[in-house]
Amino acid sequence: MSVLAPVRPAELPVLRERGQREVFCGLTGIIWLHRKVQDAFFLVVGSRTCAHLLQSAAGVMVFAEPRFGTAIIEERDLAGLADANEELDKVVRQLLTRRPEIKLLFLVGSCPSEVIKLDLGRAAERLNGSYDGVRILNYSGSGIETTFTQGEDACLAALVPEMRAEAADQLLIVGALPDVVEDQFRRLFAELGIARVESLPPRRAKDLPGVGPGTRFLLAQPFLGDTARALETRGARHLPAMFPFGAEGTTAWLHAAAREFGIDEMHFRSVVAPGRERAKRALAHHAERLNAKSIFFMPDSQLEVPLARFLSAELGMTLVEVGTPYLHRGHLADDLAALPAGTQISEGQDVDKQLDRVRAARPDLTVCGLGLANPLEREGLSTKWAIELVFSPVHGFEQAGDLAELFARPLVRRDRLTV
Ligand code: SF4
Repeated sequence: MSVLAPVRPAELPVLRERGQREVFCGLTGIIWLHRKVQDAFFLVVGSRTCAHLLQSAAGVMVFAEPRFGTAIIEERDLAGLADANEELDKVVRQLLTRRPEIKLLFLVGSCPSEVIKLDLGRAAERLNGSYDGVRILNYSGSGIETTFTQGEDACLAALVPEMRAEAADQLLIVGALPDVVEDQFRRLFAELGIARVESLPPRRAKDLPGVGPGTRFLLAQPFLGDTARALETRGARHLPAMFPFGAEGTTAWLHAAAREFGIDEMHFRSVVAPGRERAKRALAHHAERLNAKSIFFMPDSQLEVPLARFLSAELGMTLVEVGTPYLHRGHLADDLAALPAGTQISEGQDVDKQLDRVRAARPDLTVCGLGLANPLEREGLSTKWAIELVFSPVHGFEQAGDLAELFARPLVRRDRLTV
């Protein structure tokens, strides 16, 4: 068994585009964040459009009282005729009186709240002292010049100043993972002998971990640039690694922590071997279908680079273009270096030009946002919704097969339809 050594970023051509974009806004992150932090509430201060986006993205929650909502800014507020602050205070008071289980309230900014310059930072400060045992924070999920995964980055970055100072050595896993995946990673770290492992975000507000010079952190998601910077200002140190997708990515990610915490190499290999082998077996099943198939990533989730690395290195797919909204060369260095030489990367979007390139290449699979998928399908191109990759459990050894299947499924469906 070989363990992937850290690699240096390769020189890859990067096409930079600035034009019309087709992405969801940062409010979308609330859908997975509210499931993760079980005593938090996300109050969007926005318009009916924002409320509609959340409702349609989340589906209707019939059995549970939802832990997100929208304080609607009415037209008269937009015209400056009413005191939006007073309205907001009233909504917060009603909410917290009715829902005593809420321990962490996020006031989430939107395009409308930013247009009327409603200062949610000051609103959070003003409200904070008024409710015992409830912490009130704010961040922006606004859609101007952002993409949907940035909502999680902004939310986690807002939590960092709340973390107490902690001197002890610890490993911090940063990024909202489904509980089952987080538990798998924690078991592996415990078997490796890394005694103290914490997660950001925590499952409950009271379990927000501490941070300090003894903290080393692994990013579980590649879209957490602001959160990483905020942790570094608190003395924590980032452990560079490939992202934990597939057998190789997961091994490299775990290995970065093992090396840092002085875990014996033989012990590391014996702990990861069973999961790694299971992942490889699961991937072999899908590799037959995916090998040599071409794929085009439109910029959307910011997961594009590590997923492209996984699909080309572990499943033999051919990368036509890897588009990403933002390219964080530092955090993506190991994944970038493992891409085939000459892979076309694009950063940002000019959607019409990019669609022309898709049509010219006619890839076997195009990963894109929901708005682009239907038109491309009508033109006979198979697509995969990028957002599904963020909603599904895809990290780690045990999910490697499921991740590959997400890409194989549209091809299987097309084969069936054309038989
Ligand atoms: S925050 Fe902006 S982009 Fe997002 S739903 Fe509201 S108005 Fe639309």
